[in-house]
Amino acid sequence: MSYDKVEVPEEGQKITVADEETGELDVPENPIIPIIHGDGIGTDVGPAAQKVLDAAAEATGRSISWMRVYAGESAREKYDENLPDDTVDAIKEFNIAIKGPLTTPVGSGFRSLNVALRKKLDLYANVRPTYHLDGVPSPVKHPEKMDMVTFRENTEDVYAGIEWEAGTDEVEKVKAFVEDEMGYDSTIHDGPVGIGIKPITEFGSKRLVREAIDYAIENDRPSVTLVHKGNIMKFTEAAFRDWGYEVAEEEYDQTITEDELWEEYDGERPEDKIVVKDRIADNMLQQLLTRTDQYDVIATMNLNGDYMSDAAGAQIGGLGIAPGANFGTARCLAEPVHGSAPKYAGQDKVNPTAMILSGRLMLEYMGWADAGQLVRDAVEETISSGDVTYDLHRQIEGGNKLATSEFADAIVENIEKLS
Ligand code: NAP
Repeated sequence: MSYDKVEVPEEGQKITVADEETGELDVPENPIIPIIHGDGIGTDVGPAAQKVLDAAAEATGRSISWMRVYAGESAREKYDENLPDDTVDAIKEFNIAIKGPLTTPVGSGFRSLNVALRKKLDLYANVRPTYHLDGVPSPVKHPEKMDMVTFRENTEDVYAGIEWEAGTDEVEKVKAFVEDEMGYDSTIHDGPVGIGIKPITEFGSKRLVREAIDYAIENDRPSVTLVHKGNIMKFTEAAFRDWGYEVAEEEYDQTITEDELWEEYDGERPEDKIVVKDRIADNMLQQLLTRTDQYDVIATMNLNGDYMSDAAGAQIGGLGIAPGANFGTARCLAEPVHGSAPKYAGQDKVNPTAMILSGRLMLEYMGWADAGQLVRDAVEETISSGDVTYDLHRQIEGGNKLATSEFADAIVENIEKLS
């Protein structure tokens, strides 16, 4: 494929799909990896992450040929559009990429480019590991109890973008349909109304829950929790829960329910079994604080997953730390949980850890687990020695407050020491 708006580096090879069915990748020793630096603080954390990932690749005998692709402000400046087709096509062609945050205007203006990218690339699982690194300050007493991976469905729910603005002909049509034809008369208050649709499909729910259970099996995790608000939204959120249990029961021998755990095993989980349980979302948010270590892998819908992973991120040091990645079939787009924090943009101030650890997820997906582990160890070593950015510095006594770029340099030094 040739591109007008992307320059493919001369060095490096393409990551290809070795097996379409299993999604197995063929990763060369010098892969070409597309990167979107992103808006706001993306211009700070993007280059910092590149530097650290380069060092980890080099320390494990490989290299990365970065390919800049554009979205958001940088794409508007260069090409006068928010999300060039070339950006989407390049990520499709090269299979694995990493991005910084992209700004979404509230209310009016363009729709989320993050959501658009996830939909266009069919990146149906947003995966957010939340674990505590030694030395990272936390608002809770036992942050080390948090070791959870959230699988958030990425393509459905109220995030699907099916909504109509108050005062438009479309919204009036939908309102009339809902009231006159579907029998919800007097349910919607009179006057201006905005309406959105919340699609939750069997297909979308099951493939997400499958990913979560597969992950639990591969990583020896004891449980998968389906988080939903099914007591109120019976045909969407409760359906997600039911389809989740169905997948577990029909497709996996290794799973048992919480009832089976008590009835058949007296509460003692056999090592080869994974307990599939469910929790109502509001309860789950308090359980994160009160029974943190009882949760391992979470499977949930788009909106719940968004709220929950930020809240969980706060327990292990905040958004500057929390990594994430979007997965599809044989495709990965890594990205931090945080946004573009415009007030800090370009100040060389914020914490690049979230972006760096998102890169670690990408390395692991590529099969470079050794490089990924090195990144994690070097970040931990740096932070626990007291070298931190402003966000962690304000929470600890002493410590050495570093700029984004200095912090990345300190991690690179530790990669060199540890390798
Ligand atoms: P945000 O950009 O995540 O920032 C909220 C606060 O979190 C910051 O003010 C800062 O807190 C802290 N923070 C975030 N990133 C940090 C980092 N790397 N290091 C240290 N602290 C960090 O959330 P927002 O202000 O709600 O959203 C801003 C824009 O980002 C919006 O346009 C939103 O749509 C977009 N967004 C994009 C993504 C994405 O691209 N995936 C995700 C979320 C939001 P303190 O000021 O307290 O230090």
